[in-house]
Amino acid sequence: MKNSFTHFAAKLAEFADASRDGYAIFSADDILLCANKAFLDVFFRPEAELIGQSFAAIMRNAFRTQKGPRIDADNIETWLSRVQQLRRSRDFRLFEVDLVDGRWFLFSEQTLPDGEMLLQTKDITKQKIVEQHLNEHTRKLTDLALTDELTQIANRRSFVASVQAEITRCSRQHCAMAFFLLDIDHFKNVNDTYGHQAGDEVLRQVARLVKTTLREYDIFGRIGGEEFGIFLAQTSRDTAIEVAERLRQQIADEKLHIDGRELRITLSVGIALARDNAKFEQLYADADAALYQAKHSGRNRVVVAEYCVIL
Ligand code: GH3
Ligand code: MG
Ligand code: MG
Repeated sequence: MKNSFTHFAAKLAEFADASRDGYAIFSADDILLCANKAFLDVFFRPEAELIGQSFAAIMRNAFRTQKGPRIDADNIETWLSRVQQLRRSRDFRLFEVDLVDGRWFLFSEQTLPDGEMLLQTKDITKQKIVEQHLNEHTRKLTDLALTDELTQIANRRSFVASVQAEITRCSRQHCAMAFFLLDIDHFKNVNDTYGHQAGDEVLRQVARLVKTTLREYDIFGRIGGEEFGIFLAQTSRDTAIEVAERLRQQIADEKLHIDGRELRITLSVGIALARDNAKFEQLYADADAALYQAKHSGRNRVVVAEYCVIL
């Protein structure tokens, strides 16, 4: 039995020496006792220089020479004290490490009860590249699914989802919220007079203009056709009216340039206000009713839903 284990251990050592995976053993007081070539390659140092050095000294050197593992820190001592708290915090740890030269490695630390540690490194650069491509692809697909193709703002689905999340947050904090429905006046005339493509360009320019007047955390999206929605958190009735009026005025004052022609358009805005227990469907219905009034009382105006006078 003993013989066969000795044989196994010797074979293992032989394989470890030839392996493309890195192997290194650190003593309980974190001195590098031995390592194979693949491990030394991660740190770009010949064996003689590394064996007998402490983990801290090896990492300080990697930081100073900017070779080996990428250390994202201003101060190596702060970084070391953070990492040393993690080392030996469990008997087994697995984590990814990227190198200054762009390669990626999977590191594992296996610690024995007496504190001795086996560090293994596996090159995962190829898998990491595939993963990065997949992530990028997923991000692009997600963007496509959430963005209105024509105007490049949030589409109805992502707008409604963002508003619903924000309504929940606002309700919890009992903060006032405002919901606007914006609808371009006589937009059908634009299409009929200048053509559908010119109409598309008007939609693009209006979306861009509205976006520039809003704050970064306001939620803005295209509900459909020539109708847009805006959700403002922590916004009182007076502020909501002020914002909507400013928006309406800015659009009315703006000369749009479509196919070398100047064109002016106006918007009507319906506002719904709420504080607690708001529901998107209710806010939408109230804003829609207010918008209907704005249209019927002459267009190019802002109307607040009637029931909201108490706020
Ligand atoms: P109102 O002032 O009452 O809102 O009148 P309106 O003409 O704006 O309203 P209506 O709902 O009658 O017409 C909206 C038009 O918007 C009809 C539709 O063809 C046009 N439209 C909807 N989506 C698009 C689009 O993506 N591009 C273009 N160019 N036109 C669109
Ligand atoms: Mg319209
Ligand atoms: Mg409409």
